Amino acid sequence: MRATTKADLVLTHDAGGHQAGAAVPPIFQTSTFLFPDFDTLEDCYTGHGGTDLYSRTGNPTVRVLEDKLAQLENGEAAIAFSSGMAAISSSILGLLKSGDRIVCIRNAYSDAYRLFEILLPRFGITTKYVDVDELAGSAGALAGASMLFLESPTSFVFETLDLRRIAKTARSKGVVTLIDNSFASPILQNPIDAGIDLVVHSASKYLSGHSDVVAGCVIGANDLIDQIRATSVPLLGAKLSALEASMVLRGLRTLSVRVRAHTEAADWIINHLRHDPRIRKIHRPGVSAPLPNTLSGAGGLFTLELEEDVDVRKFCNALNIIRLGVSWGGFESLALPAAIANRQDAGPNALNAFGVSKNAVRIFAGLEGASTLLDDIRGALDAACFGTWVIEDALDG
Ligand SMILES: *Cc1c(COP(=O)(O)O)cnc(C)c1O
Repeated sequence: MRATTKADLVLTHDAGGHQAGAAVPPIFQTSTFLFPDFDTLEDCYTGHGGTDLYSRTGNPTVRVLEDKLAQLENGEAAIAFSSGMAAISSSILGLLKSGDRIVCIRNAYSDAYRLFEILLPRFGITTKYVDVDELAGSAGALAGASMLFLESPTSFVFETLDLRRIAKTARSKGVVTLIDNSFASPILQNPIDAGIDLVVHSASKYLSGHSDVVAGCVIGANDLIDQIRATSVPLLGAKLSALEASMVLRGLRTLSVRVRAHTEAADWIINHLRHDPRIRKIHRPGVSAPLPNTLSGAGGLFTLELEEDVDVRKFCNALNIIRLGVSWGGFESLALPAAIANRQDAGPNALNAFGVSKNAVRIFAGLEGASTLLDDIRGALDAACFGTWVIEDALDG
């Protein structure tokens, strides 16, 4: 049996219980809160009341979620937002100012990249991109930086970083570190334990887990979270609703079980595709290099870089169980070809900027069953290969 982790209990047990003995946190579907007299309203307004004033800045259901997220990532506090991008933009705008520089890992999430390229320069915040080797190699990569923006694994190609070492270097130079930990989830990686300052998640993915919510969060120590809470939360107003907080809380109950199931399915599929001659390269943590010591599993995502003479369009059209679509982290398997994702109209494109191959197809292994998904991928490869490849059964082993 797998050893019990702290996360198992955090996800499934609400110490202290809820109002009226409810098993799950009630949904406080209210915009405003009422006060019996002048003094209690005054106390709340001036921040001394310990109660909520208005749901843009605080709501009891949302706070249950925030407390759970902080515990899951071993942070002191968390803020929930209306999307992962709201968590990223609100955190950055709450902490940085004109003249500041972000150093960002290459292959960051496409809309984070567009935030850095389109919107932040208008406010005098610039971004420099560094690759995994530059970041591992020297403190010089951080020259002039106010914030280091990380992903590990990174988007689409799933490169990984030595977070402990990077966090230590950044701290010694006074650079705030922020990591998008969506791909690992709090089940497979806890960056705060490695010395990272702030962790953001797209809760639209693993955390909610059912492809029915868009949400996000940031987690960290009180001083940084308080700065974001005092500025971006009231002034940008990208709050999460109580109803959606409740849906994320429901998804979280099974987070540990789901992430392990997605990881096992993807591991099994990759083991059977490793030597397929129609695949030039498989991008996944742990495939070409060992998993870094902060990451306990590779998760449910991988990218197949198909050989030049495999027709990507035919491959995608021949998938039956695996559906075409953006996002991932829900119950269902999804495929996203780079050849389409690199053609987004709105401004500079991350996949082009970072040189992701047009023959790459990102796949998320859902819960339909690993052998079903492997058959689907193999069938699509057969349909996309002009019949020139001889695949021997022996390769299955
Ligand atoms: C989806 C995603 C985001 C953005 O999250 P939204 O909830 O869609 O705003 C950020 N980072 C990563 C790695 C993602 O996959």
